Amino acid sequence: TRLVLAADFGGTHLRAAIVDERGEVLFREDHPTPPQASPGEAVQLVVDLLARTVEASGAAPAAACIATAGLINANEGKVIFAPNIAGFRNVVLTTPVAQRLGIPAYIENDASAAALGEYRFGAGRGTRHLLHATLGTGIGGGIVIDGRLYRGAQGLAGEIGHIIIDPAGPRCTCGSRGCLEALVSGVAFAARARKLLEQGKSAVLKELVGYAEPTAVHLFEAAKRGDRTCEAEIRNGGHILGLGLGSLVNVLNPDAVTLSGGLLAMGEMLLGPMREAMGSMAYGPASGALVRIGELGENTGLLGAAAVAFERLEGD
Ligand code: BGC
Ligand code: ZN
Repeated sequence: TRLVLAADFGGTHLRAAIVDERGEVLFREDHPTPPQASPGEAVQLVVDLLARTVEASGAAPAAACIATAGLINANEGKVIFAPNIAGFRNVVLTTPVAQRLGIPAYIENDASAAALGEYRFGAGRGTRHLLHATLGTGIGGGIVIDGRLYRGAQGLAGEIGHIIIDPAGPRCTCGSRGCLEALVSGVAFAARARKLLEQGKSAVLKELVGYAEPTAVHLFEAAKRGDRTCEAEIRNGGHILGLGLGSLVNVLNPDAVTLSGGLLAMGEMLLGPMREAMGSMAYGPASGALVRIGELGENTGLLGAAAVAFERLEGD
């Protein structure tokens, strides 16, 4: 059976693994992403970790793929812009990996990779057309059409976090206002929590946060303890998410919508209003019923990268 080398390069973690064609992780290495790394150091770190993984596993992978957040030109192997990772701008990641390891190397946006991962190995199995959304620090998206990852003209397709929901809304990391990600995401919920604290609107939240930086986890914890204001924030976030995903369903008519990411921990408080909004705005059949929770868990990035490597090896 053929093996590939997969990497998941995120803001906090760098993971690498040897994966087989059935999506089994045979060997895995983890490394924290150093917060202050320069682009050059970060590239070196990736190359070294991948080489170490091959060596330590004794495997002979046929190709490598790195999944990472941000604007990725998958066709040129280049990170165009990744605000959350070493401030990458126009960094080619594939060439140094291919040179060091002597195998073809690819790069893919984390959420696009996740889409292909769920399609091949997870909750998207059996579908032909799939929309995947990653709900975490940021909001990412991936689109599978006719069983293949849809990359667009430059490999940038699927950036669903940056569809604009409210032109008068808060500023997004991309420079626009009121993007889906600026309204509902780990970062957006943290900003809402900060706002509630400033306005003295939640005693429960205040006690939970103490002197720490407020996070989405604090907001959810306060909501679970019965704080109505915090719960309303999360439910409203779910509603907005539903507007975004429902619009995309109206455009794409997928067989299913799969979800991954840390915000799934908010469960029905987030997903209930999301499904409802999706249903109420569906042009076709109620789209809330299309939603499936992803099955790949913390291996989503790795198995996504592996799925991309296998797709590339199978040829275009
Ligand atoms: C980035 C996407 C990425 C998503 C999830 C967003 O902030 O713009 O490229 O897929 O976060 O990591
Ligand atoms: Zn944006």
